[in-house]
Amino acid sequence: MKKTKSPRSRTAEFDAIIIGGGIAGLSAAIYLGRAERRTLVIDSGHSMAKWEPEVQNYLGFPKGISGEDLLKFGRQQSTHYGVSFADDEIKSVRRRAAGFTLRGGRKSYLTNRLLIATGIFHLPPEIPDVKECLGHSMFFCKDCDGYRVRGKRIAICGANNEAVEYALGMLSYSACVVIATNASKPRWSRKHAKWLREYEIPVHVEKITGVDHRGCQVCGLRLKGGTKVRIDCIFTTRGDVFHTGLAESLGARLDEDGQIEVDHCMRTNVPRLYSAGCVTPANCQMIIAAGQGAAAAQAINRDLFEESLRTHSLRRLREVQREHKRTEPKEI
Ligand SMILES: Cc1cc2nc3c(=O)[nH]c(=O)nc-3n(C[C@H](O)[C@H](O)[C@H](O)COP(=O)(O)OP(=O)(O)OC[C@H]3O[C@@H](n4cnc5c(N)ncnc54)[C@H](O)[C@@H]3O)c2cc1C
Repeated sequence: MKKTKSPRSRTAEFDAIIIGGGIAGLSAAIYLGRAERRTLVIDSGHSMAKWEPEVQNYLGFPKGISGEDLLKFGRQQSTHYGVSFADDEIKSVRRRAAGFTLRGGRKSYLTNRLLIATGIFHLPPEIPDVKECLGHSMFFCKDCDGYRVRGKRIAICGANNEAVEYALGMLSYSACVVIATNASKPRWSRKHAKWLREYEIPVHVEKITGVDHRGCQVCGLRLKGGTKVRIDCIFTTRGDVFHTGLAESLGARLDEDGQIEVDHCMRTNVPRLYSAGCVTPANCQMIIAAGQGAAAAQAINRDLFEESLRTHSLRRLREVQREHKRTEPKEI
């Protein structure tokens, strides 16, 4: 492996570095490891998958699997195919002639191709006492969690069009759906207000002063003025923070929602830079993140192969093979 001296430590050069060892990053790592590419995954350990105690919609696990286990198995599987891991947080990235230099909290890294799979952060609602219910009875995504709250009493926290659409969408799962605006002035459109009336969705406009829960199970909302609303779960629509800073610093284009723009092979507009998972415009689902990671890895592998033909670097491998290995089958 080619070695160069970095200002902070001696640094190995990788064919591909993946920033983010969540679902998208691990899926890419498995593909790149199996493509015999020198691959490093750098991860700061905050995958959103850790928040999900029982993933029910990932192909191949009819009894569900915890997000933690999915990550653990993904890491094992990548390691099995020769992928290296660094527990580090990348603070900045610079372009260089043929690739990128990454500066982490612990050391610096060099790579030819870079995949950014840094994910997003769902903003929890601004209400007290709800932290321990996250992922258990406080949810962010109806595609992930609508099914598991069938027949329950559901509160949607929010005051925008999305909150209204969430409430209407939840009617497929439960007859008992309310909106709680937490004293925010409703910002939904007239059309949405009309739907609320048409479908008789109750709206609570008071400040939420607290959430009653038993362990991680929500059982009620306490509203200013003393009203208590019995509920079993909360969905929030406060929005997301996209971890796009590194990509932006390299000149990657974002879409109007702040997600990294990619083509169908997960290439960004910056040469040698790819992105996959929830930080791109994909719907934020594990199986989609995994698929995108695989697509990105295939593109990286193909682009590296084409580069090796262009630069004749494949010839070096062939010379070594010619010198040390049998290159024609034995005649019998
Ligand atoms: C409560 C909850 C429940 C969910 N339930 C489901 C479900 O049931 N089914 C489903 O399909 N989806 C579910 N999801 C969504 C799912 O978690 C995401 O779709 C998935 O994790 C996205 O994968 P990703 O690789 O894009 O991001 P992540 O898995 O979040 O991984 C991103 C990784 O990048 C790392 N990172 C970020 N910046 C840096 C940096 N600068 N340096 C190094 N590392 C960095 C982070 O630490 C993190 O490990 C749920 C999400 C939440 C919050």
